[in-house]
Amino acid sequence: MDFGDLLEEAIEKHIRNILNLFTDKCPHCKIAMTEELWTGCAALTCTNCRHGICLWCFADCGTNGNYSAYPHVERCSHNKNLRFGYRRRFIADDINDVTRTRNEFKRERVQAYIATILEATRVLVVSDERIIPELRMIGIN
Ligand SMILES: [Zn+2]
Ligand SMILES: [Zn+2]
Repeated sequence: MDFGDLLEEAIEKHIRNILNLFTDKCPHCKIAMTEELWTGCAALTCTNCRHGICLWCFADCGTNGNYSAYPHVERCSHNKNLRFGYRRRFIADDINDVTRTRNEFKRERVQAYIATILEATRVLVVSDERIIPELRMIGIN
C-alpha cells in the first residue's frame, strides 16, 4: 500500500463518518431513526428501546416512551413552539422550525468532526462532490 492508497482510504472513511452524522439516532440505544420523525408531536418514542426522546434536541427522556418526554419538552430550550404558550408545547406544528433545529445539531456535530481531520486531508474531504450538497444543506460551505 502506498501513500496514495492510504490517503484514499482515509478520505473514504471520513466521508462515511460524516454522512453517518446526518442520521439522527436514538440517544439511548443509538439505533438510526430513519422513519419520518415529524408527525406533529414533539415527544417521540424510540421504536427499538421505547425510550422517550425530545424531537427538538434529541434528549433521552427516560423509559416510559413519549410520556417520559413531556416534562422535558415543555421546558426544552430548543423548543421553538414555547413561544406559542401552553397549548402548543407538545406540538411541533411547523416542519421548517423542526428542520432548522435539527440542522443546527447536525451542523454542530459535523463541524466538530471535520475539525478533527488533519488539514491536508480535510481539504480533500470537504471538497468531495458526494458531501458538498449535504454540507450546504446544513449551512457549511
Ligand atoms: Zn432507542
Ligand atoms: Zn429537548
